[in-house]
Amino acid sequence: MNDEDPDIAERKMQFLFALRSKGITDARVLTAMEKIDRGPFIRGYFSGRAYEDMPLPIACGQTISQPSVVALMTQALKLNARHKVLEVGTGSGYQAAILSLLVRRVYTVDRHKRLVQDASAIFRALDLTNITALTADGSFGLPDQAPFDRILVTAAAEDPPGPLLAQLKIGGIMVVPVGQSDTVQRLIRVTRHETGFDYDELRPVRFVPLVEGLGRDTA
Ligand code: SAH
Repeated sequence: MNDEDPDIAERKMQFLFALRSKGITDARVLTAMEKIDRGPFIRGYFSGRAYEDMPLPIACGQTISQPSVVALMTQALKLNARHKVLEVGTGSGYQAAILSLLVRRVYTVDRHKRLVQDASAIFRALDLTNITALTADGSFGLPDQAPFDRILVTAAAEDPPGPLLAQLKIGGIMVVPVGQSDTVQRLIRVTRHETGFDYDELRPVRFVPLVEGLGRDTA
């Protein structure tokens, strides 16, 4: 995308204004959303709509989330610069790129190898060296790198997956959309305490489902 193009500059300004008007107040989150251009994460037919607050189709039948939902989830995680974060559902890589500006280390996994490869190429081009993207079934988390300060699941599970709860540090936070696919799901924030978990409900959302096993493109 050409930053000199006044039309694109105008659309980017409107994009940030829309986030503020949707309740994104955390200055660090807004700055990260300003720095990471959504344009490169959307290819082909829909690329002209990158600055609209809409989910859009990406490869492998998946979707890049709506920017205001990305911002809301990022804000809900209460991140700091020392955190090690796991994202389940790399998709386009957009959410991981935002996270990478706010924390020490991001691990992101997707069941589709092609999405992981495409996202990794963008991370390299943007010099986002603190992201590790892997092809894996994220419902089992990433035991080798656990525990995590924060976990973000960007696909809907029927319940927060047990292995992910187990890989959260004490004091850690997980944000996960919960509910059946094809219906409206609830975005839940889980906080781990010494003795158990607290749950709070953030807002209704709609995500693609968390699916077990690797995508067929890995075969
Ligand atoms: N965070 C992404 C959007 C994710 S869409 C972005 O910023 O663009 C949801 C993603 O979850 C899809 O890419 C899908 O392949 C992935 N997914 C679904 N089930 C999964 C699983 N069990 N393990 C890992 N990834 C999964």
